[in-house]
Amino acid sequence: MVTTLLDARRARHIAEQVPDPELPMLTLADLGVLRGVEVTDDGTVVARLTPTYSGCPAMAEMRAGVAARLREAGYSRVEIRTELDPPWSSDWITPAGRRKLAEHGIAPPGAAPRSAGGPVPLVLSPTRHTVPCPRCGSADTEETSRFAATSCKALWRCRACREPFEYVKEI
Ligand SMILES: [Zn+2]
Repeated sequence: MVTTLLDARRARHIAEQVPDPELPMLTLADLGVLRGVEVTDDGTVVARLTPTYSGCPAMAEMRAGVAARLREAGYSRVEIRTELDPPWSSDWITPAGRRKLAEHGIAPPGAAPRSAGGPVPLVLSPTRHTVPCPRCGSADTEETSRFAATSCKALWRCRACREPFEYVKEI
């Protein structure tokens, strides 16, 4: 049905624009958590979301945000489904999302340590990776706290420009 297809596209566009509660400069589309939006034969909008960091309390807010936006847009029947498989990876953050993070002084995540579905590589020593400073680009940075304001971010400091910055951890 053509109307259903158009409706699904419009509903998807609305859901995509919902901001992430913890990283409000990112939309759910930027984060890559919106897996799909469909409209069923009875007119119910079904939005499928994959939670980001496990135990992230933002998931409930995300679900509520998507449902509220869709209802405001005139969809009376909205269903939010959670998809856990495959698990979300920070690799799913789009290039636009990474750019927005950097523009807000937050270092985007590096490549995730595991590839979706693949075996987890055996690492004998802790991986020492550098996180370039989002302000000056210097690689002379250090982690000051494993957990920043939220569990998905760590706190780092740049030795070159002496500015602290947040860093979205890769998973
Ligand atoms: Zn710097």
